[in-house]
Amino acid sequence: MSAHPEYIWMNGDFVKWEDAKVHVMTHALHYGTGVFEGLRAYPTKDDLAVFRLPEHTKRFFDSAKVYLLKCAYTPAQLEEATLELLRRNKLHSPTYIRPLLYVAKLGLDLDTFGSPTSAIIIASPFERLFAKPGISVCVSSWRRIHESATPPIAKACGNYINSTLAKLEASQKGFDDAILLDQNGLVSEGTGENVFLVRGKKVITPDLASSVLEGVTRDTMIQIADDEGFDVEEREVNRVELYTSDEVFFVGSAAEVTPILEVDGRKVGSGQPGLVAEKIRQLYGQTVRGEVERYRHWLTRVYR
Ligand code: PMP
Repeated sequence: MSAHPEYIWMNGDFVKWEDAKVHVMTHALHYGTGVFEGLRAYPTKDDLAVFRLPEHTKRFFDSAKVYLLKCAYTPAQLEEATLELLRRNKLHSPTYIRPLLYVAKLGLDLDTFGSPTSAIIIASPFERLFAKPGISVCVSSWRRIHESATPPIAKACGNYINSTLAKLEASQKGFDDAILLDQNGLVSEGTGENVFLVRGKKVITPDLASSVLEGVTRDTMIQIADDEGFDVEEREVNRVELYTSDEVFFVGSAAEVTPILEVDGRKVGSGQPGLVAEKIRQLYGQTVRGEVERYRHWLTRVYR
């Protein structure tokens, strides 16, 4: 296979990768007026399967609703297009899937009401976001965007300029990634990940009032941790808890479960991946590969 997959789904057609182009006057290019998703497909024993496809589709349409973006396709049509795209590209290895819906009008007028939109889906082989067993992060000097400005719960393209600032700061300071605080100075989330802490038998994650994206992996983790008998808490988290918890880890469709070994130059726990994160990481890996019976309903088979 070539370095990139052969097709991109674009407004109902399977377009050659080279031909999937947009005009420079496209509204979304100037103003970030679009919404997107990021999800994955994994090989299972007998098929490739998309992990939590309906949940990602629902969030996609919820994000579109916030910005009054019209989509010419139904959730069922987009889900079928995703599966057909994976088949046309003959994908069988771990794959990252990126649906995007954006304001496609050519023009600079900010009123997007009723504007034409384009829907695209990209599917490309993808193994790991962080190619190491654990990472170092800083607490960013940039605060997470607030509900009252651009709601973080909607996965809008423009939101990611906030993540980019934090990511740039992290890489300039020599960290792998950053954790952002919300406008009240409480822990919010990573640049593209939700954050979890372990304190004794408690597994903790910032609540939805802490300017987080309502991550699908976050939800998966809450269910897995609960089923494993941990005491799961969604609550406000103070910055200093990042330094004093037994374990801290990121979760996300791209990051999967990534232990954080150091925050602001302070070792988390022993400075090695913790036992809880390790257990949850393994269970997550088995879950997405269809090896855990009780979670198999989260998988949508591709080739059947
Ligand atoms: N927070 C942000 C800002 C993200 O971009 C992502 C990735 N979509 C997440 C959290 C994790 O969400 P999910 O588990 O649904 O991928």
